Amino acid sequence: MYSVRSGYAIALDLLFPGSSSSSSNATQIYWKKLWSAPAIPRTKELVWRACNGIVPVKELLRHRRIINDDICPCCGLEVETIYHELVSCEDVKGIWFASSLGIRGIPSESAFSNWFQSNFLQFGNKEATGLACELIWVIWCRRNAWNFNGIKQDVRHVLNYASSIHCPFETDCLRIVQAWNQKRKILGYWQDILNECREDAAHLDAFSISFTGRSCNKVTHFLASFSFSMYDHVWLDDFPPSLMDLIYADVATSFS
Ligand SMILES: [Zn+2]
Repeated sequence: MYSVRSGYAIALDLLFPGSSSSSSNATQIYWKKLWSAPAIPRTKELVWRACNGIVPVKELLRHRRIINDDICPCCGLEVETIYHELVSCEDVKGIWFASSLGIRGIPSESAFSNWFQSNFLQFGNKEATGLACELIWVIWCRRNAWNFNGIKQDVRHVLNYASSIHCPFETDCLRIVQAWNQKRKILGYWQDILNECREDAAHLDAFSISFTGRSCNKVTHFLASFSFSMYDHVWLDDFPPSLMDLIYADVATSFS
């Protein structure tokens, strides 16, 4: 059965290729530091995707023959790799420096996973790692606003946004949305889960929950239905084979 734990193990191997195994003490510490960092989960998920090379920057989309142009939409000077877009693009360097992390001397070329590991997971504390995750999220949002809507946000705007992230949550279960919005009691074990979610959401600056169609939630839907047919299976060193295809398909249709 696929679980969060097995997902972490897979991601560890992807994040730190060449490490002996997911049971390595050092890599386990790095990985725990990322997932326990004080940041909204979707920002940490983006870092995970960036470390695994599945953020849809132009270099990736061109490689997959979705687009022909791979030049960075922000500076217009270099190929838009994940590292360039999130770390070394000229304006982005300014964001890292002006943030409370004060990072300077960013190399013009590196692998994103190596850079994030050496700056945060190896030596940084949890708080710095959490802030880095949130900065990466707003840098990516800034890039999308520029690329798709022609809106250029300055460094101050980006840093202000990073300190007050709004957390929207989408589900394809209408009953959960209704229960959340109406604050009414529901039958079943998930009343306790909802209660826990309300407590967590109280710590966020802004949180919203909304309904989305199942076609927009294919990965979650696949995992939920697959778990019923494979209830006695445990994935430790791999994952359900169709999962990566679904994630790639989501990425391609969302950003092409
Ligand atoms: Zn650039």
